[in-house]
Amino acid sequence: MSQPPKDASAVILLRQNTDPRDPEVFLVRRSEKLAFLGGFSAFPGGQLDTSDAEVKVSNSTDAETAAAISCAARELFEELGVLVARGTESLTKGQRVSLLDDLESGRMSWPALLRHYNLRLDASDFTFVGRWVTPPFSARRFDTWFFLVNCPLKQEPNVVPGELSSGEWITAGRAHEQWQRSEILAVPPTLHALKTIADGLTPDIVERFLAIPQAHREPVRRIEFRPNYICFPVRTPTKPPATHTNCYLIYNSREILVIDPGSPYKEEQQTLAAAVDDLVREGRSVREIILTHMHPDHVGGVNSLREHLGGQVRVAAHRFTAEPLADTVPVDRLIEDGDLIELSGSPRIVLRAMHTPGHTRGHLCFHEERTGTLISGDNIVGLGSVLIDPPEGKMRDYLESLRRMRVLPDLSIIFGGHGPAMVNPYARLDEYIAHRLEREQSILEAVKEGAETLQEIVAPVYADVSPKAHVMAERAVLAHLQKLEADGLVFYEQEGWHAR
Ligand SMILES: [Zn+2]
Repeated sequence: MSQPPKDASAVILLRQNTDPRDPEVFLVRRSEKLAFLGGFSAFPGGQLDTSDAEVKVSNSTDAETAAAISCAARELFEELGVLVARGTESLTKGQRVSLLDDLESGRMSWPALLRHYNLRLDASDFTFVGRWVTPPFSARRFDTWFFLVNCPLKQEPNVVPGELSSGEWITAGRAHEQWQRSEILAVPPTLHALKTIADGLTPDIVERFLAIPQAHREPVRRIEFRPNYICFPVRTPTKPPATHTNCYLIYNSREILVIDPGSPYKEEQQTLAAAVDDLVREGRSVREIILTHMHPDHVGGVNSLREHLGGQVRVAAHRFTAEPLADTVPVDRLIEDGDLIELSGSPRIVLRAMHTPGHTRGHLCFHEERTGTLISGDNIVGLGSVLIDPPEGKMRDYLESLRRMRVLPDLSIIFGGHGPAMVNPYARLDEYIAHRLEREQSILEAVKEGAETLQEIVAPVYADVSPKAHVMAERAVLAHLQKLEADGLVFYEQEGWHAR
């Protein structure tokens, strides 16, 4: 996780002869199977290849920019079949297709291919419009160079199946409206590009692109994958590979809900408080601080935020969260399964609380029907795995909670307690359920074959996990055994587990 972000490039492809007042860009949808931002609307691009730096780029000022341009051109060619290189004009469409085939099949490297066909990259075809760094809530982080590129005449982008599932020419304004209607999901640099281009291809467009510090690698804090839901990852002492816990700021015209301000670190608390203040300054008030569950990495910043807001703001949670926190983080209002929390103002936002124990006894999830949004806390996370640690953790309850989430209608996104938002809710839930049932099955088999202690069971069942994680695995095995015991399939006797 502390690894530096990897260099990458992305191309904002502009349609040739587009209306400069309402320009069209080529927006792609990333395959839902991708670990990084699967299902998001984005621009074509990808990680730098070592060979990208071997390509000579005319009119380039420095080697680093040249490599980023070479990467941008290669990714654009690989993902959309669009080749932006001087000399391409003389190639037929068929020749371009066979070039792409040479590259994809590995018959020719990117630098060799350009040399062989006498093609030349020119920096003036790639307008630099910013460098954005992925927030540290993702295991995969990129330092991405964005380039504005005109699609060459006579070339039409074509999504090469694989990393992308579809793509289309769309005016930046319309794409931005789709995001506002919660129809598409996009990350901050994509949204910034859409907004900037929607204001027209004016002479100052590059300045407008570069006018915010995030376009100069300043870390992005406020991530609005979906309008009115700000994901604000704060650094916490959490379970690796996660290093951050997602705090959510849900807002409309008049009110703000803060879910899980989890950081115990002063600097992080101040940054979060400043983000809340920004929303308040625009005429809103904080309605409540809500807790999904009692773990320290989800409640560590509650008292500080409450104090910052003048001590007036209520804290709400489930009874089984309030009880263990009574001496440290006082809870003022109890939330029960089925309770509705409605923000006054517009748009209308109504969250329905679901008591979903398993990870902890008092765990709450929040479901908004209108947009199919599920705030899942630590029941489903976008990074790492969920630990079920008895006695607070109960596998039987956990599976039941997962099944309750699985039958919610029309889910379109899950906002987890850690990691990026998940756009394939049902696939994710199925995966979680299947994973637990598989583990359960192999634990039962190990017991049947004579393994009695937690250590003996962990060894064969968690053969795929590093021995360092075996202490945690023992907790998970215990949780499974307790469920199997409740199911009447195993029993505990003479300090050992046995099958019935
Ligand atoms: Zn937790």
